[in-house]
Amino acid sequence: MKRVTVKQSYVKNIKQQNPLILEEAIDEPHKLSEGEIIALHTSQGEFLGQAYAGRQNKGMGWVLTFKQEETIDQSFFKRKLLSAMNKRRSYYQAEETTAFRMFNGEGDGIGGLIIDYFDGYYVIQWYSEGIYAFKDWIIQVFDELDDYQGIYEKKRFDTKGQYVEDDDFVKGTRGEFPLMVKENGMNYAVYLNDGAMVGIFLDQRDVRKALRDRYAKGKHVLNTFSYTGAFSVAAALGGAVKTTSVDLAKRSKSKTVEQFSVNGIDFEQQDIIVMDVFDYFKYAKRKNLQYDVVVLDPPSFARSKKRTFRTAKDYPELIENSIDLLEKNGVIIASTNTASFGMKKFKDMIHRGFQAKQKKYTILEEFSLPGDFAVDKHFKQGNYLKVAVIQVKG
Ligand code: SAH
Repeated sequence: MKRVTVKQSYVKNIKQQNPLILEEAIDEPHKLSEGEIIALHTSQGEFLGQAYAGRQNKGMGWVLTFKQEETIDQSFFKRKLLSAMNKRRSYYQAEETTAFRMFNGEGDGIGGLIIDYFDGYYVIQWYSEGIYAFKDWIIQVFDELDDYQGIYEKKRFDTKGQYVEDDDFVKGTRGEFPLMVKENGMNYAVYLNDGAMVGIFLDQRDVRKALRDRYAKGKHVLNTFSYTGAFSVAAALGGAVKTTSVDLAKRSKSKTVEQFSVNGIDFEQQDIIVMDVFDYFKYAKRKNLQYDVVVLDPPSFARSKKRTFRTAKDYPELIENSIDLLEKNGVIIASTNTASFGMKKFKDMIHRGFQAKQKKYTILEEFSLPGDFAVDKHFKQGNYLKVAVIQVKG
């Protein structure tokens, strides 16, 4: 096994069991080949961990074990996968929810590997060529269990995690799409072989349920950055008088129509608007439109024709715009998936938005990742989701 020396200033990080190996943490990272198993040592020769090499964003690979005596072989991968499956027994058995994350990267012991389950079908996301090198071992585990319909994959190889366009079918029986999955009794149509995204982000499951069960009845709901309208569907099923979904992607309209339709909701009673959210805010203000609930779930970074949105900089502005459109005692469901800051800083951003509008508020509840999105407590960035349900006072 190749020995790799960790630079002194990064030793502490790995000793604290942070599994991500940064490119700048090791000598001669360019000499590593994808999928190679390496032994990390200090310059004094002290053993630190065993890892695989895989270029992913700023990372060079992931530590698989901090034990010197453990062997990284097929049985290692099998143990991790079976343990992840066992932890999710209740998800496999749930009748009202048929889609969940079965394996969550470093949270389940193997960084760079994500596996979601959609009613009998698995979707494997490979975040580097390095992890892809272990594909046969990983697929073999599923074959031994032999209780799946089919396997699809998403290759997110290059260093920015961008998706490589391909036929994503791996093996088993090809699905018929849309495949219908259930989430707390709601229906969602998913497409496992139609690009990088399948139509639903499973990490918002608890938030969608909260919106349906506690915040939607009798309300007008504005869903911004709405994608396929998953939040709008939850709101409509929860008894919203009307939902308005806004997304600038043209495809979002037909996708949202579909999600409403598979839930027996008349989409013609809802507004589905293809527009830049910031233009919509201006339009709605001009027209004096008001909402009881505003859902904010932007991407971390988005470039449209007119502007670039960066969560870390622009979230307070989103809050301000939402306040302008809120009915008395209205509610904002503010979400971010930006990994570079935590809940405290997110609340600061929210606070700045309210301060600018000189409004008081209370945070009614907070959410982070649901239970199937296992997190590694030594890797804070993995715990990326932050959601606050905020009520304006007056
Ligand atoms: N809230 C969604 C997921 C959002 S994904 C859900 O729960 O499923 C981010 C979405 O933001 C994408 O669909 C993208 O098209 C949209 N988007 C990015 N920038 C935008 C902008 N300036 N205005 C409107 N939509 C935008």
